[in-house]
Amino acid sequence: MTEKQIAIIGGGPAGLMAAEVLSLSGHQVTVYDSMPTVARKFLLAGKSGLNITHSEDFARFANRFGPASDRLRPVLEAFTPDDIRDWAAGLGTETFTGTSGRVFPKVMKASPLLRAWLGRLEAQGVKILTRHRWSGFAEDGFLFETPEGQKIIRCDAALLALGGASYPRLGSDAGWTGWLRAKGVDIGDFQPANCGFDVAWNSVFKERFAGAPLKAVTATSDAGTFPGEFVISQHGIEGSLVYAHAACLRDRLANDGKAALLVDLAPGRTMERLSRDLARQDAKASLSNRLRKGAGIEGIKTALLRELAAPTTLTDPEQLSRLIKALPIPLLRPRPITEAISSAGGVHWSAIDDEYMLRALPGVFAAGEMLDWEAPTGGYLLTACFATGRAAARGIEAWLGSN
Ligand SMILES: Cc1cc2nc3c(=O)[nH]c(=O)nc-3n(C[C@H](O)[C@H](O)[C@H](O)COP(=O)(O)OP(=O)(O)OC[C@H]3O[C@@H](n4cnc5c(N)ncnc54)[C@H](O)[C@@H]3O)c2cc1C
Repeated sequence: MTEKQIAIIGGGPAGLMAAEVLSLSGHQVTVYDSMPTVARKFLLAGKSGLNITHSEDFARFANRFGPASDRLRPVLEAFTPDDIRDWAAGLGTETFTGTSGRVFPKVMKASPLLRAWLGRLEAQGVKILTRHRWSGFAEDGFLFETPEGQKIIRCDAALLALGGASYPRLGSDAGWTGWLRAKGVDIGDFQPANCGFDVAWNSVFKERFAGAPLKAVTATSDAGTFPGEFVISQHGIEGSLVYAHAACLRDRLANDGKAALLVDLAPGRTMERLSRDLARQDAKASLSNRLRKGAGIEGIKTALLRELAAPTTLTDPEQLSRLIKALPIPLLRPRPITEAISSAGGVHWSAIDDEYMLRALPGVFAAGEMLDWEAPTGGYLLTACFATGRAAARGIEAWLGSN
């Protein structure tokens, strides 16, 4: 195959992974990004350790992507969690598996990996042009706003790897949806995923407890029952256990106008035991004392019961034990997408073929979070971005080969 000019628009994990594959095949690859530096979200992910993939059984892993799992499975099989660990090791970043099965770099950050990766890309001849914002289509190319003014970029094939719509200050602002829709690309509205929720806390409660963690609890929604922890915030609730339920809670709020997260404050005790032990407490003792002695509950857990339960239920051991095992936290709405870890929505699967090419725009491919899939936190997001970036690169090679 003769050397071709390939434009990759968006320098996040999906775009950079495609650049690696295509430059290795000898193509002239240029990555364009609107920000002053690439992969800002990847670096931010590194601030919480960079959960790069997950070690669970592959069949389970590949089912974490909801309705998109069937479309993603072949590309995840082609670039598995083990391949990601090998790839990171090849760039000098050894990984380890945490107790939850999540996989992290041993250094618990993204910057050494990104530095080595950009070095490899440079050595393979990839050109990176930052402060180049794609701003729509020209008649025979892509229009860019650059520090030198407007440019039209022409290429043999292009990959759009523009990210979703969360944390727009890091570059992925979904500004492109209108230009693609105008070309006939079917795009679902972006919604927050892995997000917190607003709760109507009273002002005394939130002043006193915003920032307090609820540890060793389980939470239930349509998604199932999971153990973990979450945090009370000024606005409502945040944290990994909330994110695990976020997609179901968001959809229930949209469909029914109301939703609640059911929290078990004492997962180690049965309702019968709680009920019996609480009934043994002195009815004249304070609620705090009865809960501490009869249920092993104190601090923020007691405050949450006071905040959410009707006062009469707090005096009846049976009703109180029922609440301890399933305290509903009524949710008002998801937090704004600008604060979400990731987004749902984006380019519909029907708009791309099996090679990740946009059906409406031959020669233009798409990968990463801008496609219509979502997954919980746990390394699934980055894994799918890497895997779709590689798949789109293979698609570009195949398309260039056949044209
Ligand atoms: C706080 C936080 C923590 C996270 N932690 C993890 C984690 O531990 N594990 C995990 O798996 N996932 C994590 N994620 C999610 C993960 O970082 C993203 O899913 C992933 O970065 C998406 O990759 P992407 O390449 O599709 O898009 P992005 O990383 O969003 O990159 C898209 C790029 O396109 C550029 N761009 C957008 N529009 C234009 C335009 N018009 N012209 C030119 N360039 C443009 C942007 O500047 C950006 O550089 C985290 C996310 C956040 C916000």
